[in-house]
Amino acid sequence: MIIIMQRGATEPQIEQLTQHLTSRGVRAERLTGKEQTVIGIVGGSGGYDITAMSAMPGVQEVVRVSSPYRLTSRAAHPEDTVITLPDGTRVGGDAPSIVIAGPCSVESEDQLRRTAETVRKAGVRFMRGGAFKPRTSPYSFQGLGFDGLELLKKVSREFDLFIVSEVMEPAHVPAIQEFTDIVQVGSRNMQNYPLLRQIGNIRKPVLLKRGAAATIEEWLMAAEYILAGGNDKVILCERGIRSFETTLRFTQDISAVPVIKKMSHLPILVDPSHATGRRDMVSSMARAAIAAGADGIMVEVHPDPDRALSDGAQSLTFELFEEMMGELVRVADAVNRPLLVDGYHYSPSGNRVPVAGLP
Ligand code: PEP
Ligand code: MN
Repeated sequence: MIIIMQRGATEPQIEQLTQHLTSRGVRAERLTGKEQTVIGIVGGSGGYDITAMSAMPGVQEVVRVSSPYRLTSRAAHPEDTVITLPDGTRVGGDAPSIVIAGPCSVESEDQLRRTAETVRKAGVRFMRGGAFKPRTSPYSFQGLGFDGLELLKKVSREFDLFIVSEVMEPAHVPAIQEFTDIVQVGSRNMQNYPLLRQIGNIRKPVLLKRGAAATIEEWLMAAEYILAGGNDKVILCERGIRSFETTLRFTQDISAVPVIKKMSHLPILVDPSHATGRRDMVSSMARAAIAAGADGIMVEVHPDPDRALSDGAQSLTFELFEEMMGELVRVADAVNRPLLVDGYHYSPSGNRVPVAGLP
């Protein structure tokens, strides 16, 4: 960190600042020019408050030199993080791009089984399904809770699917991780620090969704909490941010993909369902995500979206989901990040060709 003093800053002001820093155990090196003084801070852990320091008498500007996200930054870890699931399936780095698909909420065994079958037949290995739902209104369907997780476990075993499901409460983390292969932290909880700390204590992969109003730096700092706790299996998920544009539910920030790739080593997925809020926009935004270099996408799929208990408008019908997969596979091939499609391959025209029996 470098502190640039104002022209005309007085000696007592410079001295006060230097003492303030040394009292915090930081070594401050002073460089005095003809007109201005600059104080360089060597070492230190970044535990000081830059805003407070900028307001101290005589200070013109405080410039941060090293990034505050020590563990999530690319500088700290130049290689891409690749997360390996128990059967060897990999996410991130040069691994095939993944698709996570499933209903917004787990509603019934029939709904889940039909969705699982469709998802698995498309070669997809990851199924999502919310059991604990963060709903804007307290009067909306709140999810089936642990009964929903039991259903996810049962159906995922039947179809050999990895399960992604959300945890909302710190106290639920130990129990929910037993039901899931990837634990989701939702957008609304991106800055729920007690929850992030609990997630840092487990060793399951985590899908950390970006807060709708979070900057990339805030998002990486949220990931930092999890890594600092000792869990380095974090997958970021861009799910749309709030902007001045109101045509769609949110604005999908595609540039977050190359920005994250540059700033961090963590894998990043994109969720075009929540970003757009409309099923007719999902496929094109999924393709854009893969073309931009995302490590995968997450979409909502429902057997009867018009009757879904949550997020029906943005949920793909089975037909639209299969269509999306056919389109996505070609984009993924074109950018050299072929989709992970298990048990099937896709012909150059996007047709699904079975290569092995399904469970
Ligand atoms: C979800 O994945 O269903 C969800 C609630 O997402 P988000 O946290 O991004 O709104
Ligand atoms: Mn949803």
